[in-house]
Amino acid sequence: MYSVPLFKQIARPYSASNRQPLYVRFFTARQLDQIPQIIKLPQDIRFAMQVVARVLPFRVNQYVIENLIDWDNVPNDPIFKLTFPQPDMLTQEHFDRIASLICKGSDDKQIRTAANEIRAELNPHPAGQQILNVPVMDDRPLKGMQHKYRETVLFFPRRGQTCHTYCTFCFRWAQFIGIDELRFSASKTDDLHRYLAGHKDVTDLLLTGGDPMVMKTSLLKKYIKPLLLPEFEHIQNIRIGTKSLTYWPYRYVSDSDADELLRLMECMVKGGKHVAVMAHYNHWQEMETPVARKAIRRIRDTGAVIRSQSPIVKHINDDPEIWARMWRTQVRLGIIPYYMFIARNTGACHYFELPIAQAYEIYHNAILNVSGLARTVRGPSMSAFPGKIEVQGIAETDNEKVFVLRFIQGRNLDWVQRPFFARFDPEATWLTQLRPAFGAEKFFYEDEFEGLDY
Ligand SMILES: *Cc1c(COP(=O)(O)O)cnc(C)c1O
Ligand code: SF4
Repeated sequence: MYSVPLFKQIARPYSASNRQPLYVRFFTARQLDQIPQIIKLPQDIRFAMQVVARVLPFRVNQYVIENLIDWDNVPNDPIFKLTFPQPDMLTQEHFDRIASLICKGSDDKQIRTAANEIRAELNPHPAGQQILNVPVMDDRPLKGMQHKYRETVLFFPRRGQTCHTYCTFCFRWAQFIGIDELRFSASKTDDLHRYLAGHKDVTDLLLTGGDPMVMKTSLLKKYIKPLLLPEFEHIQNIRIGTKSLTYWPYRYVSDSDADELLRLMECMVKGGKHVAVMAHYNHWQEMETPVARKAIRRIRDTGAVIRSQSPIVKHINDDPEIWARMWRTQVRLGIIPYYMFIARNTGACHYFELPIAQAYEIYHNAILNVSGLARTVRGPSMSAFPGKIEVQGIAETDNEKVFVLRFIQGRNLDWVQRPFFARFDPEATWLTQLRPAFGAEKFFYEDEFEGLDY
């Protein structure tokens, strides 16, 4: 488990009228009942939240509680669903098991044992692909790095493996409750730089987490700044995946090292790099506060670009109007819509998952209602074993209805951009449930994929 400070001081409060030092508070499962807005909820909902929080990670900060959630709209509010444990996130059987232990007054240890058994049933290590794509240098696997597609290296800095607030659907949930060891977390800056210097076909470095923006600027600088040296001329793009624009926009506005962070971005841009903040946004409601807008403006002023990405999840954003409004807002604020993802089968996926067909319909209807500037977003995509696969559409021939698919990224470069077809299936939620169309036995890539050494 991470030890997190309960209070974080905001050095320079955003509001000029607020002369007092401002503290932000984090709440975890144990403090659920200390949240004033929660205390007002009906007892049965509160109890259900306690039950779920015993199994799945929960952490929320005061900014989210006070600014992003419309408490008059709880329990339906999308940001409430995004950040607070929801009763139906556990199956009835799992729920009853924990609930009865709590009611019986069982001790912590008994509850924890049951919780761990339930967690093990929730596919805590989805796809396992992270283990499979760890690069090797000097005959040694490089922890905290992943190199799956030729041009992009993913880096998971050790100190960036937590988030300001946890998303209820997060596929990295197991890491936050300590049952998935931080096998990615990298500590060695040196390894990263030596690896990149030795791989001239890599153009992109993607810092990811958790949320790398929880790190101090001084640490981020150690990873990023050296990339201005001549031996990293081939590294054109530096992407940073983050949800901080939603959960902690003060990171760019009033944190003690906010200005230093912006200067770092500016320095990289001036040095000839493309700096892209890959902002995780699920709903337009995340972009409405003055401080969120100010953070966006300040980042853009550095010359960095903000691109947005989000999974499509039931209860939070399974409505085309939510996406259309989100993309319209983003374009207006200078953010480029980039990816819509299909959520992975882990954790509370039974609660959040949508059939591929439905995800595509939502994407399509949303796209119809925005201008071309927002149509930069790739259709619902699955990050699966063979690659990143986009659902491009649903088509019908004389006697068959099919999904039109294509690789956005492939384990083999030759696969990229090639359209292929799967039998239409209104229920399927993941690539592994799809079957080839037109009587084919296998998808075009399958023979080769099986032969790949990984
Ligand atoms: C999506 C993804 C990338 C980046 O792909 P782009 O098409 O360049 O956005 C890189 N590595 C992994 C493992 C990915 O899933
Ligand atoms: S911000 Fe990303 S890594 Fe963090 S909890 Fe949300 S989905 Fe998971």
